[in-house]
Amino acid sequence: MNDSPDTPRPNTTVLLDLVGRHLGRSTTRLSFDPAVEAIFQADTAAERNRQTIVAGLFALVFFNGFMIIDGITRPEILGMSIVVRLGIITPLCLAALFWLRRAPPQWIRDSVLTCCALLIATASNYLLYIASSPEAHYSAFSFGLIVIGANIVLHIGFNAAVATSIGCCVVTAFFLNASPTLNWSERNLPVYYMAAMAVITLVANYRLERNQRHAYLLMLRERLNGEEIRRINEQLNAYSYTDALTGIANRRRFEQFLQSAWTEASTSGETLSLLVIDVDYFKRYNDSFGHPAGDACLQQVARAIESQTRIENDLPARLGGEEFAVLLRKTDMMQAETAANRIHRAISQLAMSHGRPDGNGYVTVSIGLASATPSKDGSAASTLVEAADKALYQAKHRGRNRTFIADRAA
Ligand code: GH3
Ligand code: MG
Ligand code: MG
Repeated sequence: MNDSPDTPRPNTTVLLDLVGRHLGRSTTRLSFDPAVEAIFQADTAAERNRQTIVAGLFALVFFNGFMIIDGITRPEILGMSIVVRLGIITPLCLAALFWLRRAPPQWIRDSVLTCCALLIATASNYLLYIASSPEAHYSAFSFGLIVIGANIVLHIGFNAAVATSIGCCVVTAFFLNASPTLNWSERNLPVYYMAAMAVITLVANYRLERNQRHAYLLMLRERLNGEEIRRINEQLNAYSYTDALTGIANRRRFEQFLQSAWTEASTSGETLSLLVIDVDYFKRYNDSFGHPAGDACLQQVARAIESQTRIENDLPARLGGEEFAVLLRKTDMMQAETAANRIHRAISQLAMSHGRPDGNGYVTVSIGLASATPSKDGSAASTLVEAADKALYQAKHRGRNRTFIADRAA
């Protein structure tokens, strides 16, 4: 959707509500709420302008074709007809049609097209006014074609169509009444016909635009519904991969990431490292401070772990309970050990009090570290997890608040 840059697009839900209200209303107005109108104009302007340019070119050919009729019915003005039609009107109208390709706002576009129609009406009336042939006045009956062309073929907006119709009738009435040689019928019948054509084509213009707008609303509602469904799906997808308590990735996302990183590393030859992190004596923390405080502690631990990871290569995740993991892509054992040390430091800087059995007064974590180069050993991703789990067990066993490194590549 390419909305007009100066009208910010409301969100899809608001737009759907507006569209629904327009569809539910049986209004006679040919405009929408500004936000919907901006989208309508942006979506339809290019095609409408393209159709107008094609129709306008045909109308000009038709208009110039009247030179042949001028030559037959009023040869005395043929020279002037060529000058006016080919020398003045055609270049002006061509310039206007060419300019339409710049997709101006609708009211400017309609004003320009109204001016073109009035110019053509004035030129046609002028050529009739200066003609002296006795049958010349018959051509006044053809002026209604200008109104038909503007109101239906060029499909200008309804207000512009009303202005064009009135303008053409006034110009025609003015020239015919200024002509001293015409009788009452010759002066007034062409204006009457033109006014009748104007009314009929205005009704057609109004219906065309109303139907087009109604069809557009139905189409827009479908499109917005599609957008809304996509947005909700994306949101649900994000929720299903996020741990609700800490906001970092959950086990599901971790397993997916591990699998794809493992597959990628199997061909690229990279080394992967995994840290499995477990909060020490967390049961006691809960017992001492209560479950809500335990939750807050887990949130802070998650933030501290996340703060020590790289956005592109690492994935911090909560595997469940008070157990976390960080998968480090393109990271060997030594680099991973540095990352583990940074995590220990970040958690100790949280300085969260803890009445632990080992006398250390703060929350700490134990980390099991394992590394693997999948392209070399051809094993499955689960071996890396098992190795890191065993290393974590060793870290706990050897006194906690430390990192234990798996003794061989998984
Ligand atoms: P160790 O140092 O050996 O890991 O001891 P521990 O007490 O941390 O381990 P244990 O597995 O005995 O206890 C884990 C505790 O974590 C028990 C459980 O109540 C708590 N726990 C698990 N999930 C949550 C949670 O989402 N919120 C809170 N507040 N506590 C949780
Ligand atoms: Mg624990
Ligand atoms: Mg545990």
